[in-house]
Amino acid sequence: MVTGAERTVTVCLVFLLLLTLTVGAFAAYNPGTYVAEVRGHNGPIKVSTTFGSDAITSVEVLEHKETAGVADPAIERLPRQIVEHQALGLDTVSGATITSYAILAGVSSCVKQAGGDVDALRAKVIKETPGPRITKTADVVIVGAGGAGIAAAMSAVENGASVIVIEKNASIGGNTLISGCAWNAANPALSSQTPAAAGLNQKLQSFLEMEETELPPEFRPTLRILKEQIETYLAGDTSMMFDSVELHMIQTYLAGKRQGLDGTTIEGSFDFIEILCRKSLETQEWLKKTAGTVFRDRLGEPIGSLWKRSNGPVNKWEDFFVKPAKYITDNGGEILCEVTGKELIVEDGRVVGVEAVMADGTPMELFGTKGVVLATGGFGGNTAMVLEYNNYWSDLDPNILTTNRKEIVGEGIVMALAVGADLTGMGYTQLMPIGWADTGLLAGGGGSNVMYINQEGRRFVNEYAERDVISKAAFANGTLFYELKSLGTATTPESHVVFIADTLDEMAAKLGCDPAVLKSEVERYNSFVAQGYDPDFGKTSFTDPIEPPYMARAMKPSIHHTMGGVKIDTDCHVLNKDGKIIPGLYAAGEVTGGIHAGNRVGGNAIADIFVFGRIAGANAAKGK
Ligand SMILES: Cc1cc2nc3c(=O)[nH]c(=O)nc-3n(C[C@H](O)[C@H](O)[C@H](O)COP(=O)(O)OP(=O)(O)OC[C@H]3O[C@@H](n4cnc5c(N)ncnc54)[C@H](O)[C@@H]3O)c2cc1C
Repeated sequence: MVTGAERTVTVCLVFLLLLTLTVGAFAAYNPGTYVAEVRGHNGPIKVSTTFGSDAITSVEVLEHKETAGVADPAIERLPRQIVEHQALGLDTVSGATITSYAILAGVSSCVKQAGGDVDALRAKVIKETPGPRITKTADVVIVGAGGAGIAAAMSAVENGASVIVIEKNASIGGNTLISGCAWNAANPALSSQTPAAAGLNQKLQSFLEMEETELPPEFRPTLRILKEQIETYLAGDTSMMFDSVELHMIQTYLAGKRQGLDGTTIEGSFDFIEILCRKSLETQEWLKKTAGTVFRDRLGEPIGSLWKRSNGPVNKWEDFFVKPAKYITDNGGEILCEVTGKELIVEDGRVVGVEAVMADGTPMELFGTKGVVLATGGFGGNTAMVLEYNNYWSDLDPNILTTNRKEIVGEGIVMALAVGADLTGMGYTQLMPIGWADTGLLAGGGGSNVMYINQEGRRFVNEYAERDVISKAAFANGTLFYELKSLGTATTPESHVVFIADTLDEMAAKLGCDPAVLKSEVERYNSFVAQGYDPDFGKTSFTDPIEPPYMARAMKPSIHHTMGGVKIDTDCHVLNKDGKIIPGLYAAGEVTGGIHAGNRVGGNAIADIFVFGRIAGANAAKGK
């Protein structure tokens, strides 16, 4: 029998229990705004999260160093989705995976600070459901929206075609957007305003001494013209740079001629090299005129460029992507992001479209009545594929890192193969000697103002040589090496292996090498800078001596550019294994092979993608 007093106690206990449960259920967080700093792709990201007692009310990315265009969709989308779904089990944004993880990690840290349950929020997985199949038709369908795809779309709309561009990432840009955007074009107006580096005339002299028989017959008239140009230049004022299309052509040919591990030789074809070099400046002018792209109009020389002839956009996201995309859409083109091309649709032997899939799984078929352009980039983000085809690097480490975005995996090559395309140069992959030793990402910089030293502090190569020459020398010197320069000639990036020292003794201690060796190597190198002549390794471009304070960056070669790919003709038609055109199929950019042969000149890829992207788009628009 329950007494009245006992009943009162029981009611009170139940009330208390309910109160506790209720408060517990609603007070999921200690209200307030919490801030967390996490590591993003390029550096720290500061995320703030505001909580009410029972919900996340806002998420904001306060500060970041991520690449404009690449990370924007993640920075815009994830904070919104976290608040909308009150969940952390969200998909990362394609093309911005690291930024996505960083934002999710930052919010997780804020949830913890607010006393919330991170595991419960992570367990709430949000998945979208696919819709019914979508069919779309245009004159031209372009797969991939890096530089080549964007150039192809611009020239296709310029030639009156309706265009659909599909891009698998959440944002356009591809590798082009993370590149240095150094674009080689012989530009006498700029080179005649650019002081000539010490050593330059010696290099020019070597072309005067070159025998015509060192080149295939089709290049010999080019060498003859070049010799005349050089003689005229050397007879006049040599204080400013010399440059010409012919010099660019000969350098591109020589740098590309290489022997594979199987003993065969690969070399660039005259026709491709001539188009690349002759149309490069004109294509910059075309971008200025059509899209309003603004160039820096100051010449640069990325590593392995062999000459100071690269120009670049003032702002790569705005000038190479935002403005051109506006030109495309203003002229009736459509750009669809987060749509992945899966296979080419062939009817009666002609490529007529692309089977694709949207991020939520919705199937899509896109028909291009006049043509389909593959512009999916190379396969530098796909180490397994690089190793599978490798015919150049002996003992390539399967754990080698890459400078590429991880989405650049060669899908266009696989799609083209499936419809009978021929491939060329697949075994030749360019390694970037100055990859950051810790991440493999591109460290950037040129060869004129630096000394490369091995772990003993000894200089081991011509820093102005081709990238494969430097990478091979690095492998022969223990793979890890240091780029030493005057701090005054450097921009110091954060979060990588960088050493700074006021004296060479201090630097030697930091690098773990013998100070006497380092001092004598620097002294010797500086004497070469003063005389503009390097008897040790034949360097021919010196801009700065190595002076205190010093900076050393730890470098290792990493996968950078895949020279091989789909075989095309000079109109950008894709060819089959019999050398015949596959009707309806065009390709441009790093998805193609042959243009750079066995080794690409630094700064020639951006020229390639815009020059040949433009050609592919125009020909597809005309159904040529
Ligand atoms: C870090 C770095 C720096 C570089 N710097 C320079 C430089 O300064 N100068 C120079 O000359 N070269 C440079 N290069 C090389 C140059 O950037 C590339 O060769 C060039 O950008 C390739 O352009 P692309 O348009 O062919 O391919 P990308 O720009 O890679 O674009 C290909 C696009 O296709 C998309 N795609 C792929 N598959 C599919 C699919 N199945 N469906 C839909 N879309 C798809 C990709 O997501 C990507 O957006 C650099 C490369 C790297 C990695």
